[in-house]
Amino acid sequence: MIMEKDGIVYATAPAMLIRTPHAFVGRSGGVSPHPFCSLNAAQTVGDAVENVEKNMGLIADSFGFDKKSLVTVRQVHSDKVLVLEEMGASGHAGVEADAIVTARKGTPIGVLTADCLPIILVDHARGVIGIVHAGWRGTLKGVTLKAVEAMRTSFGTDPADLVAAIGPAIGPCCYTVNDDVAEGFKGAFGNPGGFIEGGGPYRINLREANRYQLVMTGVGVEKIAVERNCTSCRNDLFFSYRKDGGTTGRQLSFVMQ
Ligand SMILES: [Zn+2]
Repeated sequence: MIMEKDGIVYATAPAMLIRTPHAFVGRSGGVSPHPFCSLNAAQTVGDAVENVEKNMGLIADSFGFDKKSLVTVRQVHSDKVLVLEEMGASGHAGVEADAIVTARKGTPIGVLTADCLPIILVDHARGVIGIVHAGWRGTLKGVTLKAVEAMRTSFGTDPADLVAAIGPAIGPCCYTVNDDVAEGFKGAFGNPGGFIEGGGPYRINLREANRYQLVMTGVGVEKIAVERNCTSCRNDLFFSYRKDGGTTGRQLSFVMQ
C-alpha cells in the first residue's frame, strides 16, 4: 500500500504481515534537482554528493534510523548474498552483492532500484531479515532463492516462517525485453508461460517470477505482499530508469529490526 509522511511517499507491506520497520521509499520529498528529482539515494548516478547526503538524512530522520548505520552493497545483478554477522565492520558499500541478510538488531539494510525489483524478507520467529535487488539477470540467477538459502544456512530460518514484501518495480505492462531475455525466462520457468506476456516484443513479469521463486522455497503464498504499482506507469511516485530515459535517481528500500 502507498503511504506518505514528511512529504515522502513510500510503499509498505501491511503491518499485520511485517511487524518490523521497513519501506520502499519513493522519489518525492528530497532535494535533488532534475533529472534526479528529488529523493535520490544513489551516489553513483551523477547527482551531487551533498544532495544525496541530505536525502539520506531526510529518509533516516523520517523513518527513525541513523543514516550511518545503513548497510548497502555494490549491486551488480548477481546472485551474491552478503551475510552480515552479529558483529564486524560497517561500511559494506564496496562489497559486490545483490542481497543482504542479517540477524543484527538496529542495523537497517537496503537496496537501491529504479525499475528493478526490491524484496524484503522477515523471519519474525528467529529475528532474521533480508533484502534483495532482482532485475531480470538476478531473477534468472535466482538471487531471491539464494537469499532465502542464506537465511536458512546462516541463521536457521525455516522458509515456512518467512513473510515477504515485493516492492514497486517495472510491471509486465511496461517491461519489454529482447528475445534472448524472453528465452531465458522460458528456460527458467517453462514454455509457454515463463512469466512472459505479449510477443514481439515480449514483456516479462519480474514480480510474479520472484513470487513464484519464494513459494518454491516454502514461503506461504499468503505471506507474500505484492506492491502492484509499476515504476514506469507511476514514475511520478517512483524512479523509473526506462521511463525517465536512463538518467535518473534510485529509490531506497530498507528493513531493520
Ligand atoms: Zn507499467
